[in-house]
Amino acid sequence: MNDRVHRYQYDAGVTDCLFCRIVAGEIPATLVTETDTTLAFRDIDPKAPTHVLVIPKEHHTAIGDVDPVLAGQILATAHQVAKAEGIDESGYRLVFNTGKDGGQTVFHVHCHVLGGRGLTWPPG
Ligand code: AMP
Ligand code: ZN
Repeated sequence: MNDRVHRYQYDAGVTDCLFCRIVAGEIPATLVTETDTTLAFRDIDPKAPTHVLVIPKEHHTAIGDVDPVLAGQILATAHQVAKAEGIDESGYRLVFNTGKDGGQTVFHVHCHVLGGRGLTWPPG
């Protein structure tokens, strides 16, 4: 755990955030990969054969709050996950549910990496 990130989370008073608690190791998750700034773990209620969440280690509520460099790191990790899961050739979908109408339920920004089956469009 990066001490700076750890202090940031506690200073920001967001220890009740589920995904910050996963970053802190307080709640178990099935990790897929990790970088200095991002963490990827399996969704607890998968909607496709591959369903991985990629999050920044720092707490940000939604993608609009994330600086472009960190946003790029999230996307790079998402593509790494797709490669590691063997779905980069068959295809996959990246989703940032944002806000109430976007269906966001966990208010720590996360990118869903979905694949391993044909995904329909439009989404519900
Ligand atoms: P969203 O609706 O876009 O905010 O997505 C939140 C996602 O987090 C959902 O797909 C949940 O299944 C997933 N989720 C909730 N709790 C956990 C957890 N403890 N570990 C992994 N995934 C979780
Ligand atoms: Zn958080």
